[in-house]
Amino acid sequence: MGTKLEYNATLTKRLDLSSHLACFELTLDQPIANDPAFVAGQYTTIGLNNEAKPELGSVRRPMSIASAPQRSDALEFYIRLVAHPESDNPLTPLLWRLRVGDRLFCRNGATGRFTVDDTIGPDDDRLKVFVAAGTGLAPFLSMLRGDANANARSLAQYVVLHGASYAAELGYADELTTYQRDLGLHYLPTISRPREVPDWTGSTGRVEDFFLPDRLTQLEERLGLPTGGLTPDRAVVMVCGLQGTIQYSIERLLGRGFIPDHRRIRRSLEVSETTPASLFFEQYDNTPVVDLRDPANVSRLRQLLPAHA
Ligand SMILES: Cc1cc2nc3c(=O)[nH]c(=O)nc-3n(C[C@H](O)[C@H](O)[C@H](O)COP(=O)(O)OP(=O)(O)OC[C@H]3O[C@@H](n4cnc5c(N)ncnc54)[C@H](O)[C@@H]3O)c2cc1C
Repeated sequence: MGTKLEYNATLTKRLDLSSHLACFELTLDQPIANDPAFVAGQYTTIGLNNEAKPELGSVRRPMSIASAPQRSDALEFYIRLVAHPESDNPLTPLLWRLRVGDRLFCRNGATGRFTVDDTIGPDDDRLKVFVAAGTGLAPFLSMLRGDANANARSLAQYVVLHGASYAAELGYADELTTYQRDLGLHYLPTISRPREVPDWTGSTGRVEDFFLPDRLTQLEERLGLPTGGLTPDRAVVMVCGLQGTIQYSIERLLGRGFIPDHRRIRRSLEVSETTPASLFFEQYDNTPVVDLRDPANVSRLRQLLPAHA
């Protein structure tokens, strides 16, 4: 049971995209003292006391910051109300009861290494392919907003593949479309339940389906790459979301030589020490990304790797 939290932030904006998907803006009593406040891609911790059931105490959860790092007083988050939580005192149902003006806890600072500097490196000029399932868009939004604010004349080095069930759940679509139109961002949204959205004319399927063998060429064409050109010498991949998206992105890109930044996976697949990582991920749940206990699975994955990896 978590000890009672001292609240230090106010909910200043809330935008509900659906009954279980919302953007929250929290204003901290004290702006984050660091300069910059955080690095785009990092997360902080949000918490609430369970007022309705005080015997359950408090709960805190990590949340990626979706706002630009240039802002230190107010932080934005893109959050899903989890329909089937695992814990007995889940955060998101409590969060959903909040109204603008309500108070809560937010750690005054951010952490995490899912940033361009700590993964790809700041001076890398390869295409950066961001793969986001649902609210996994949050860290990428922060990166794009940060660059757009810091006078980026072009976001053409970024690709955003964003998956949601329905078009209405493609959060921030207007903003990303504006970046596409004005700054050259490659923005490719996809929905997995098109039958329920008859007027949808865009891509369909889960976001990791862009990497299915029969769809890769089409993706390459849309990104201006030659057939077979989506490889680590031209691109680097960052994935954020739940286990399935990460697992299938890894599996479907292994054949192109994309090596996950994960020591145990690399070791199990016997990837050479000298081959740099080219697929980085941030996972929101706890299921192991790849089942490394099953020798048949490991052997299958090893066979997908190109000989030089
Ligand atoms: C580094 C990090 C950053 C995160 N950033 C975000 C974020 O920006 N937005 C966000 O909505 N969540 C984010 N999460 C997930 C968040 O921390 C909680 O796990 C989630 O909100 C559920 O908490 P809960 O207490 O309501 O449910 P719990 O009782 O803790 O249930 C946990 C289960 O909820 C499911 N779950 C967790 N996150 C999601 C999700 N986003 N969509 C669907 N199902 C999910 C998983 O099955 C998980 O095992 C992040 C997690 C990590 C580790």
